[in-house]
Amino acid sequence: MSIIIKESIKNDLINLGIKEGDVLYLTIDTLNVGFFNKNRSTTLNTWLEIFFEILGEKGSIILSAYTETFWSFNKKKDLIFTRCSKTSNGAFSNFLIKNKKAVRSRHPTNSVIGIGGDIENILINHHEHSKAYSVFKELISRKAKFLMIGTLDNKNTPQAMHYCQELLGHNDHFFGKGFIQTYYYDINNVLKLFTLKDSGGCSRGGYKLYGPLILNKAIEFGYVGNAFSAIMDGEYSKNVILKELKNNKNLIQCDNKYCISCYGSFYKNGFKVIPFYIRKIIEQIKKILNKKYGMSNRSY
Ligand SMILES: [Zn+2]
Repeated sequence: MSIIIKESIKNDLINLGIKEGDVLYLTIDTLNVGFFNKNRSTTLNTWLEIFFEILGEKGSIILSAYTETFWSFNKKKDLIFTRCSKTSNGAFSNFLIKNKKAVRSRHPTNSVIGIGGDIENILINHHEHSKAYSVFKELISRKAKFLMIGTLDNKNTPQAMHYCQELLGHNDHFFGKGFIQTYYYDINNVLKLFTLKDSGGCSRGGYKLYGPLILNKAIEFGYVGNAFSAIMDGEYSKNVILKELKNNKNLIQCDNKYCISCYGSFYKNGFKVIPFYIRKIIEQIKKILNKKYGMSNRSY
């Protein structure tokens, strides 16, 4: 087994097809790569160096930086989206948020964080009045590549998936529409309440798109360090996914049969939601009884 060092990661990325001037939309799980340089902070800084030694001044990297929300019937006054809000999208996104040179888009729940090249202009139209994934239109117009480092699993999706749902109008019917909120400061620094009107929902079934992406030669695989990784042309992968979801909007339902996002929406499932909610209620009652009386769920 070869030792994973800065130069070997750089070579792995070049072998995957990363070039000078590229705009990269990235998902990354650095722990899967097996690269460590002194401490956590130095390791993440080295990652940034690696990217920009390849991309140069004109290249950019962008990652999701989605943030916490509350239900409209349970408002949290102190939950305000700002440039520095922590994200649930992983260590590298949070590391970039702390970098003063990075730019964050102003969408209050589905912001992205990016650095390098023309990043200000890439992100300028992604804000409280735009759709949640509209930034992908700009990325695709700039011939962005979608890179997944160590994130080929059943949690992360090929990057274009939620944008394709947006283009098809599916996101306008998500479960929870009108009830998911956060506070934010608008461009004039006035505190406002944001209500989410569109969302891609659950991502756990996104892995089902790898088949069509492979058959259409829209994805290439390789290793970055120890991490199984993939790269896609932004526009072409979008076209392949769009065609699949146009034919079957339920292709990307996840494997959890109790998932409300995938199985609880009338728009996606029609009258199948009736048996779904009966199952869901029975499951909830079982859970409560189990907690109270220690009853086992096991069937004999
Ligand atoms: Zn689901």
